[in-house]
Amino acid sequence: MRQGETAPKGAWIGSASGGVKAPEPIILPDPGLRFSRTAERLEQLADGHAAEGWLAFMAEVSRAQAAAAACPSTPRAPDQAAIAQAVAARLPPLAADGHRRDAAWREGLAVMLESFDATMFPPSAAATIAGLRRRDAMETERLAGAFLRGGVDPADAGAVFWIAAALQVYFTGLSATLRVGDLRLLERRDLCPCCGSTSSASVITVSGQNPGARYLHCSLCSTAWHHTRAVCIVCDGSRTLSLRGFDGDSGLARAETCDECRTYSKVLYEAKDPDVDAYADDLATLGLDMMIGEAGWSRHAPHPLLLVS
Ligand SMILES: [Zn+2]
Ligand SMILES: [Zn+2]
Repeated sequence: MRQGETAPKGAWIGSASGGVKAPEPIILPDPGLRFSRTAERLEQLADGHAAEGWLAFMAEVSRAQAAAAACPSTPRAPDQAAIAQAVAARLPPLAADGHRRDAAWREGLAVMLESFDATMFPPSAAATIAGLRRRDAMETERLAGAFLRGGVDPADAGAVFWIAAALQVYFTGLSATLRVGDLRLLERRDLCPCCGSTSSASVITVSGQNPGARYLHCSLCSTAWHHTRAVCIVCDGSRTLSLRGFDGDSGLARAETCDECRTYSKVLYEAKDPDVDAYADDLATLGLDMMIGEAGWSRHAPHPLLLVS
């Protein structure tokens, strides 16, 4: 199943009358929906938000990503034998730091930069885009490699923001070419079974095949994968977990803190709002990250676009 589709009629586990379906382990992304949905949700959340201008900017970035995702230069499907070999070895078949990138990702970057409407934002956005357009292919590839290996020079942060956004589009397109039946969850359940990256926020579902299940959403390729609830995604501990949020809020977002490893990850509840989006709502709840960070827990993994912006 791909995100956005209705749940298929799968095989039941247990009796037909009172059976419980096993959670679908991996849900591949639909690039045609992923970025446009995030853009719509960000536009909705921006209205009246304390960080309205910034969320509107991120919405426009998502719109530009949607334009790139819709362009015809989709990446070539990866080699089937290589996928099978990686999965058999419990390695991510599209490992972000080892995968040989198709030049198609730079076409996506060009479409993004072309379609982004910088006139609504401070001049620095247009200046960064102009600077990035002047860089040649080799330099752009070098920055992409630095981002995927986690070694970005702060001086390149403005350019790498856009490169990271384009790589999200590229890896989402690549993951969408995989077949879910060929994949397995990794031994490290906090890492994406397609590209090996860390997750954005997790979502507790209310609809689909597995209501009440927790899915982590890949920060790079947008794949969602199942993770047991009430278990720390970093250290697998369960003894000292707490759900923390602002008193009196809607309960849509909570930080699941773990005192064993002193980290937290953000959990979003579809039951509180069916339009919740793992990417948009993560950005719109940065106040929760700040509160939890000040109280001494570290986020389980950085946000790829905030890392460099
Ligand atoms: Zn991934
Ligand atoms: Zn932990």
